[in-house]
Amino acid sequence: MEKNNVLIIGAGGVGRVTVFKCAQHHDIFKNITLASRTKSKCDNIVNDIYAKGYKIPIRTESVDADKISELTALIKDVQPNIVINVALPYQDLTIMEACLSAGVNYLDTANYEHPDTAKFCYEPQWNYHEKFQRNGILALLGCGFDPGVTNVYTAYARKHIFDRINTLDIIDCNAGDHGYPFATNFNPEINIREISAKGRFYENGNWHTTEPLSVKKVFNFPDEIGEKDIYLLYHEEMESLIKHYPEIKRMRFWMTFGESYLNHLRVLENVGMTRIDSVIYEGHKIVPLQFLKVLLPDPASLGSRTKGKTCIGCWINGEKGGDEKNYYIYNVCDHESCFIETGAQAISYTTGVPAALGAKMVISEQWKGSGVFNVEQFDPDPFMQEIKEWGLSWNETFPEKNTI
Ligand code: NDP
Repeated sequence: MEKNNVLIIGAGGVGRVTVFKCAQHHDIFKNITLASRTKSKCDNIVNDIYAKGYKIPIRTESVDADKISELTALIKDVQPNIVINVALPYQDLTIMEACLSAGVNYLDTANYEHPDTAKFCYEPQWNYHEKFQRNGILALLGCGFDPGVTNVYTAYARKHIFDRINTLDIIDCNAGDHGYPFATNFNPEINIREISAKGRFYENGNWHTTEPLSVKKVFNFPDEIGEKDIYLLYHEEMESLIKHYPEIKRMRFWMTFGESYLNHLRVLENVGMTRIDSVIYEGHKIVPLQFLKVLLPDPASLGSRTKGKTCIGCWINGEKGGDEKNYYIYNVCDHESCFIETGAQAISYTTGVPAALGAKMVISEQWKGSGVFNVEQFDPDPFMQEIKEWGLSWNETFPEKNTI
């Protein structure tokens, strides 16, 4: 197999950043191929990369990643060391199947979802563990920011800061403003499915369910972001983190939303526009949420309009040497800086950077193994050392009071 060869699937906002980061690190990624359903989207990204002066040749291809044989043929032709899947969660299993057929490592940033039912669970992908093991290849799941960097932060905290983690709160703030009354920062279908689902948190060995967006707190974010409303959601990394750190007594996930966003979402839900089952419209089957996606601004177009910052991190309470402590580790990312560098806003940036760095960890065998893994199963140190240089710095504090 030719060395240092990467195939990226998906030419959306995250794909754009991933290709930019691979091009910036072409000492590692010698040959880059970007494939998506629409080849012109790949070509646009590559033209923007060349316009920034990067000289590395980047091949572009059209592929339907729902079709295993078509994708397997492309993988065999490209012969990558790793396939980075930044298409949609619907394609996770077909891309994993194609990687198995071609004998190539796999990486993604979101758990598999069936188009008809939102489940937010890793089981369908964890079920591939033995197949990947038998083939001597690695599947790295959830290597974006959350899931992804938040899992690495947790592993880092458990390795260096705590003997035992008692509580973990993952807090995701987007304090950016794109000027639209309602738009989603990544794929609207995936985003709205996630937010309109019931909330869930883990406490003392059990999962507890809450009504969608019914649990709210105020959190004071660093770096002049200030106080924001945060809402309890279910998020997939909690499933893998509880599996790998069963000592954790309580785990929750929080996300910020503004009033305008929530008001629009409530109305859309009330009129049935967020439904994911099909309805008949003038003799045709349509899925309301897919139709809504066509009406909403393309997330990839938000970059040039978005100002402000994101702040995503882990608030952890635990014990070290018998003493209790609080620890807050987080990244702050500026939408406008991300756009200047890559032409994408910070949500895509904070996902695409760890995807590319995770691929580097696999190619360089700093993270190695056969089977299906979540990122917290590997040594966090090389990733934490490099991610600052790759564009996502991190900060840590040891707050006296537990304010979450
Ligand atoms: P977009 O919708 O902007 O882009 C998705 C891309 O995938 C599109 O270019 C689309 O191609 C392509 N695609 C869709 N279906 C197929 C298919 N069958 N075959 C080939 N290509 C296909 O999404 P984002 O870039 O915003 O998100 C990408 C992924 O990142 C998603 O899975 C999302 O859930 C995940 N994500 C993860 C985060 C994290 O922190 N872990 C945060 C944000 C996102 P085309 O346009 O040509 O149709």
